[in-house]
Amino acid sequence: MINATFSNPEAIAERIDELRGKLGSRVHILGHHYQDDSVIRHVDLRGDSLELARKVPDISAEHIVFCGVYFMAESAALLAAPGQKVHLPEMTANCIMAQMAPSALVETVLDIVSQGRKVIPLAYVNSSVAVKAVAGKHGGSVCTSANAETMLRWALSQGDAVLFLPDKHLAWNTADILGMPKGDARHMLNIRNGGAELDREAAKKAQLLMWPGCCAIHARFNVRQIRSRKAEIPNLRVIVHPECSPEVVAAADAAGSTSFIVNYVKNAPNGSNIAIGTEVNLVERLGDLHARRLRVIPIVESECSHMDRTRPLQLLQTLEAIADPQNPFGQANVVTLDPAVMADAHLALQRMLDVCR
Ligand code: SF4
Repeated sequence: MINATFSNPEAIAERIDELRGKLGSRVHILGHHYQDDSVIRHVDLRGDSLELARKVPDISAEHIVFCGVYFMAESAALLAAPGQKVHLPEMTANCIMAQMAPSALVETVLDIVSQGRKVIPLAYVNSSVAVKAVAGKHGGSVCTSANAETMLRWALSQGDAVLFLPDKHLAWNTADILGMPKGDARHMLNIRNGGAELDREAAKKAQLLMWPGCCAIHARFNVRQIRSRKAEIPNLRVIVHPECSPEVVAAADAAGSTSFIVNYVKNAPNGSNIAIGTEVNLVERLGDLHARRLRVIPIVESECSHMDRTRPLQLLQTLEAIADPQNPFGQANVVTLDPAVMADAHLALQRMLDVCR
């Protein structure tokens, strides 16, 4: 039983396998690319947040266990069938960037900057369901790093300006791809003191209003590190995620979503040297996967501490609770959504799926 296996990784893995066998098709386990290998070995499907969310409607299992962070499990719960349960093995695993945009503050800021004109909110998928609902309610939508360009272009066509949140770097990098002018056309919002310090005049002139959030894990990369890696390794290609700063994106050879990075490495010629600026678990896994023909290294090691909170033990405890709700060794950790926000959040997601069809 679980109490005897707390400190024994192999025993935990064996018990997970045993429970998987027992639960059979009642359980489907999803794992984000940033999860540790010790968790990834147990998942039925791994992918980035968009790939995993897209698969949810095709899953018929009664229980979906999502090894990732809170907003991902919330999105899965939004897309799950009635009666289907979505479980997050570690309930404190939450995206740092998503937490930078509380829905009440988003609503307040949107209200202020919308005075006298139509501002379309565009919520990066790394946001709570409540923030996605604000976007849905006000004619906006959701985007991912893979479709941010398409969605920003769409949002600009729907009103006078776009409020892009919570990632300021993705907003700026995407605006660069679209060739949007800099200067007054782009404005970084000052959201301090509940929106009381907003520069309303500057906001009124801007076409793109950026929420000042970012991912601490991708913000760790800088141009100096890229230069030093390039000096160290001849013919090095540097690939980064667009959550990195615009300076880092400009210094890299290519930038793109997690699936772009995965495919870039897969299609790179034999003998390539590639340095990647994204979460280290994914970089190391890609390095292992292609070790025979390529060298893949991180620009520097940067780990998401919240992704790392889910470990095999938490997965095991969740499976124990699903197999036997009376067991004393774990909580089922079912993610529940506020019914008041579900329709608007769904609308925001549906707009994205329609625009990107
Ligand atoms: Fe959030 Fe960054 Fe962690 Fe991704 S890597 S879950 S964006 S904090």
